[in-house]
Amino acid sequence: MNDVLFLAHTDAGGGLPRAALETLTAAKDLAGALGAKLDVALFGEGVQAAAGATAGAGARRLLVAAGPELSQPRYGSDAAAATALARASGAGIVVAPHTSRLARVMAGVAVRLGGRIDTHVTGLAGEGGALATRWFYRQRIEGKVRRKERPWILLVDPGTAAAHAGSGAAPAAEPVRVSVTDADQRTTVTGTKQPGSGKSTIRPDAKLLFVAGAGWTKKQPDGAPHPDVAEKLILEFIDAAGASLGSSKSLVDQAGEGQKTFEFMSHLNQVGQTGATPRHPKGLATCCHGEEPHVVGWRFVGQRRAVNLDAGCGWARGKADVLYVADAFAVMAKVNELLAAKK
Ligand SMILES: Cc1cc2nc3c(=O)[nH]c(=O)nc-3n(C[C@H](O)[C@H](O)[C@H](O)COP(=O)(O)OP(=O)(O)OC[C@H]3O[C@@H](n4cnc5c(N)ncnc54)[C@H](O)[C@@H]3O)c2cc1C
Repeated sequence: MNDVLFLAHTDAGGGLPRAALETLTAAKDLAGALGAKLDVALFGEGVQAAAGATAGAGARRLLVAAGPELSQPRYGSDAAAATALARASGAGIVVAPHTSRLARVMAGVAVRLGGRIDTHVTGLAGEGGALATRWFYRQRIEGKVRRKERPWILLVDPGTAAAHAGSGAAPAAEPVRVSVTDADQRTTVTGTKQPGSGKSTIRPDAKLLFVAGAGWTKKQPDGAPHPDVAEKLILEFIDAAGASLGSSKSLVDQAGEGQKTFEFMSHLNQVGQTGATPRHPKGLATCCHGEEPHVVGWRFVGQRRAVNLDAGCGWARGKADVLYVADAFAVMAKVNELLAAKK
């Protein structure tokens, strides 16, 4: 009952998402800690290429579900595939990456299997049986969860384990038949749309999180706001540094108030209590006050630095490792100049 199944979908065109490779490490370690067997199950387009990436994980069985009807990320066919694969394995613990594609379907899969699910899992251990760690109450309380019900589905958050590096040969793939009904195929994915200008500024794998606050659009020491200069400095920096762009709530809320805002920003960039809690090794906040509802979103950022004109801002009160009391316009112009010279 405590055997472990690692379940994932492929990326469009084949291969596995990084979050899946990280979750495979967590699943493999859990199976090892429990002395349990590990199965690998994959569905979607290009399962053969993806199967190679799971080699070396020590899987007993490699179950695959492929076919044109499973290539689209849609609820009906994804839920049918995940259910069929979990049934074919029969494992009591199903570990899957918390990608948006699986987050959408796995609660339904748990119901179909008569099991239970926990999401946003940040750690797995085999202490006296399977034990999952996750955070509650907007990342303020860390809890440990055990469940008697099986199958127990665990969706593991990205950035919480090292990615598995495939080596050697994967076991022979066992195709699993998935019954996909016409109703399961009612939805057709016609494309994807990005908010704002279409420029992708959210990069979960980036080493640096660069946060822009509302100060970028406020009156500056010369008595005038300079949003156009700000826009150029921010975009230049995130492109040159390959950084991910975060925002304070005040900055992204300005759009609703008809004030100048940045087209490449949306509420998806917001970090904090009512925004995201990203995991980057380093973070740099600029023109952002560092109030608690914002900084709570920095919980998992390794090293925190901030640039603010105000020496008494929130960052100065134990929230940043380093606070530069300086004009962010001048600092970022200089940093961009140095980055350009390095190219
Ligand atoms: C229930 C609730 C939930 C919330 N959730 C969130 C959340 O999820 N995320 C979030 O961000 N906020 C959240 N907030 C809002 C939060 O409390 C703050 O209002 C917000 O974070 C402030 O944004 P800011 O620091 O960008 O703007 P401001 O408070 O306006 O600060 C601007 C800063 O820019 C600095 N500055 C200006 N010009 C320069 C310059 N040239 N160089 C350097 N510094 C400069 C100023 O000194 C100032 O400190 C929430 C609030 C509530 C009540």
